[in-house]
Amino acid sequence: MKISELLKKDTLSISFEVFPPKTESNFDTVKVATEEIAKLRPAFMSVTYGAGGGTSKYTLDIAKNIKTLYGVPTLAHLTCVSSTKETVGEKISQIKEAGIQNVMALRGDIPSHLEQADRSLWAYKHATELIYELKCADADFCIGAACYPEIHPESESQKEDIKYLKEKVEAGAEFLTTQMFFDNNLLYNFLYKLREAGITVPVIPGVMPITNANQVERAVKLSGSFMPQRFKSLVDKFGHDPAAMKQAGIAYATDQIIDLYANGITNVHVYSMNKPDVAMKIQSNLSDILGK
Ligand code: FAD
Repeated sequence: MKISELLKKDTLSISFEVFPPKTESNFDTVKVATEEIAKLRPAFMSVTYGAGGGTSKYTLDIAKNIKTLYGVPTLAHLTCVSSTKETVGEKISQIKEAGIQNVMALRGDIPSHLEQADRSLWAYKHATELIYELKCADADFCIGAACYPEIHPESESQKEDIKYLKEKVEAGAEFLTTQMFFDNNLLYNFLYKLREAGITVPVIPGVMPITNANQVERAVKLSGSFMPQRFKSLVDKFGHDPAAMKQAGIAYATDQIIDLYANGITNVHVYSMNKPDVAMKIQSNLSDILGK
């Protein structure tokens, strides 16, 4: 099922993100976690592509399982990092052969050992180029791309960021998923600017339930997200108590989702990663709203 079709629903639906194992020995653990999450029957599940592509085989294996064994629509991520025409061509063929209809086209996080690498040698330097390639492939993919309510950290201005985002949509991205954010007003403001720039494809807000205090630092470093005082107070109060922090983080994310839905947003992507208990809790907190 194409995500562009799923997004036409006008009641709340949620999707979950998982990441592939780093090594073969962790494969079964991730498989079990994804199966548990799939049992929640989310709108779809996305599988990330490891920075640098080292775990790309597992992205496809996990995505295939989600689709064929558990019957949940799947979104496979693909990145440009260290890309060659051959490697990307091979991945695209494998995704198609696996019957996966949805691909998230990304530049990718640059792993530290590649920070000084000569990116001009990569066949694809930006997500837009990957989108063009996916569009030219002999496959009818539904393509997604990333967007940043608080600006991509490498961008000089939001105006420039939105200009390049529009190029991704013109190249063929049919939906956009946002980076995590902790203040919904930033998202509403961003959506307004996108519409003003003529970007009309659906935007799926990405919400990350912060379930331990260490995650806060990592999340801010990765995304540059603004932490509202309400969220900081919660981390100050509960950060030292793992169980309480988890409960408070899930409640905060649930609250964000309810506010998004109350403001007209019907699809939310939850970065619960490989934590079925967190995904389950979010879903059960929303059970009456979701009708599940
Ligand atoms: P791009 O769209 O290429 O943009 C990167 C930067 O370049 C931006 O500053 C943009 O404004 C600028 N830019 C874009 N096009 C041009 C151009 N033509 N010329 C000059 N500048 C340009 N990372 C992973 O490694 N694996 C994943 O699975 C993964 N999943 C993600 C899912 C989501 C929903 C999000 C939001 C992020 C994800 N990331 C993932 C992180 C992402 O790869 C990084 O944020 C990366 O730095 C940018 O990726 P992008 O696709 O947005 O890049």
